[in-house]
Amino acid sequence: DVEIKGAFKQFGSNVVLNGIDLEVKQGELLTLLGPSGCGKSTTLNLIAGFLEADEGDVYIKGKKVTKVPPYKRDLGMVFQTYSLFPHMTVRENLDFGLKLRKVEKSEKDKRITRILELVRMSGLEDRYPRELSGGQRQRVAIARALVVEPKLLLLDEPLSNLDAKLRHELGAEIKRLQKEIGVTTIFVTHDQEEALSLSDRIVVMNQGRIEQVSNPTTIYDHPSSEFVFRFIGKSN
Ligand code: ATP
Ligand code: MG
Repeated sequence: DVEIKGAFKQFGSNVVLNGIDLEVKQGELLTLLGPSGCGKSTTLNLIAGFLEADEGDVYIKGKKVTKVPPYKRDLGMVFQTYSLFPHMTVRENLDFGLKLRKVEKSEKDKRITRILELVRMSGLEDRYPRELSGGQRQRVAIARALVVEPKLLLLDEPLSNLDAKLRHELGAEIKRLQKEIGVTTIFVTHDQEEALSLSDRIVVMNQGRIEQVSNPTTIYDHPSSEFVFRFIGKSN
């Protein structure tokens, strides 16, 4: 569904991606897991089109998109922070992307109502982001990414600003929602427990390389390297 082939990326003399090959399957929730600075966000930005690799290509649905700008890639993205427009209500935030895509009024209202139900935010459409809790804001951010019905959902540590309990709850909701809608999703985290509990498959990254790609049980039971073993086992 999504493919990265031979990606290299350097910032100055800092090699950030050192030969990334990655395949994301239709409908799966794939997690990029690794320590701070290993290149997770850079990989996501490559797929989103905010960055171009020095070498290598990105394919979405078999089509090379390396030169295609982000807004034409048909994806929804949620960032760690600052995901909502502060001067717009919940409804206006959701409406924004639909307007850009020229979705007609009755269809827009239908979609907004449905997605707010799915993220359990019905009744709060007239609130401003500052009137919402951190968890509610991230729910709206996820709704805003999904309301345009993207082919691909990119989540860059969407839970990292929340307390442990909320992280757990919202994590489970993301998984439920993802399965219900069936949208191919790439989820970035440096939290191994989150990765183990939410993912269909996990990509463990280390210093711009991929160490292992497997389902959670295999990664946990059969880490392919000392690094994976240590990283996954850290909290146990
Ligand atoms: P974290 O878990 O902390 O978000 P990450 O795995 O997402 O880390 P990246 O954001 O991909 O890491 O960054 C990888 C490396 O690239 C880091 O060393 C970072 O300092 C560097 N880097 C990222 N973006 C830039 C940039 N625009 N200019 C220069 N260096 C950058
Ligand atoms: Mg990051």
